[in-house]
Amino acid sequence: MELQLEQLRQQCVQCQRCSLCQTRTNVVFGTGVPNAEVMFVGEGPGQNEDEQGLPFVGRSGQLLDCYLQAIGLHRDKNIFIANIVKCRPPNNRDPLAEEWEACMPWLRQQFSIIQPKIVVCLGRIAAQRMIRPNFSVSKEHGQWVEKNGVFFTATLHPAALLRNPIQKPIAFEDYVAIREKIQQICTHTYSSNTK
Ligand code: SF4
Repeated sequence: MELQLEQLRQQCVQCQRCSLCQTRTNVVFGTGVPNAEVMFVGEGPGQNEDEQGLPFVGRSGQLLDCYLQAIGLHRDKNIFIANIVKCRPPNNRDPLAEEWEACMPWLRQQFSIIQPKIVVCLGRIAAQRMIRPNFSVSKEHGQWVEKNGVFFTATLHPAALLRNPIQKPIAFEDYVAIREKIQQICTHTYSSNTK
């Protein structure tokens, strides 16, 4: 599993399937443990992520890490974090349809290798790509949708919470629900034997 994921990463970092390859600094493949039962999926890399080649490393990443830590999750220990598109859209615009369509096969292959039981969409773009095209994160965050045995949910994007901090407690309720779902259906996320 670890080898498969590394082989996929090596292929992905050379990807030129869409025009975002021309403006990226680094491909942001994703980070975490290969046997993660829980995957977090965001929209795409921002400036910090593009510069470092890692997902969620700016201020919004720090906020995400706080939420994760609060429910016993850590990107190096028991989850995997990825994005819908692996290269930064210029000026942090939304990914275009042709870009996420070109990039989705990478995410599908990540799913195929990791085989998560729970997928948490971070923000509108990820939720509308992964759950339902008309999914409203503001109205439907925290709800669960089962697809082929995998439980999907969505919460507010950490960057949106930085812009609108009054929503932080609402988002925290989503993370508490994620912890409960993990406790119900996951076998090793909360054990130490995760690597
Ligand atoms: S965004 Fe995805 S499809 Fe486009 S070049 Fe980057 S890795 Fe390839």
